[in-house]
Amino acid sequence: MKIETCKVGYLKTNCYIVTKNNQTIIIDPGAEPDKIIKHCEGKNVVGILVTHHHFDHIGALPELESRYQVKHNTPIKGFSYKTIQTPGHLDDSLSFYFPEENILFSGDFIFYHTIGRCDLPGSDYKKMQESIQKMIHYPKDMKIYPGHGKETNLKEELPYLKEYI
Ligand SMILES: [Zn+2]
Repeated sequence: MKIETCKVGYLKTNCYIVTKNNQTIIIDPGAEPDKIIKHCEGKNVVGILVTHHHFDHIGALPELESRYQVKHNTPIKGFSYKTIQTPGHLDDSLSFYFPEENILFSGDFIFYHTIGRCDLPGSDYKKMQESIQKMIHYPKDMKIYPGHGKETNLKEELPYLKEYI
C-alpha cells in the first residue's frame, strides 16, 4: 500500500492518497479539489474516507464525490480496514485502521505528541478519554497518520496519550 500526502488549505490538512493494487482511496479531502484531482491523475479512485466533518477535512468533498462518482464513508472494495468510532474532538470522529499494514488514519484525534482540541462545539473530553482508552491496546508499532502534522506511531505517542486518561 502506497501512501501519499497532499497538504491542502491554509490549515495544511493532510489529505492522504492511498493506493493498493491499482486502486486509490482519498482520505480527508479538506480543500483545493483541483490540487487533489491533479495528484490523482491516472489513478483509479474507488472511494473517499472522511475522519470527521470539520470544514478543513471536507472542503473538497462535493467536487470529489461528483468527479469520482463515489459517496464518502461507504464500503470500498479491495481495501480491508476497520472503522473505529473515536469521538472527543468531534462527536462523529472516526479513525480508520488498516490491519494488514498496521496503519491508523487518526484525523484530528491523535497528533504527533498531542491530541485534538476538545473545546470546540461537538467536542467532549470524556469521550476523548474513552477513545484514547480504546487505542492504547493496539499494536505498539502501529503507524499513525494524523489529519495535520507529521506521522508517528503508537509507541511514540503512548506516554503522551496516557497523560490525558
Ligand atoms: Zn477537526
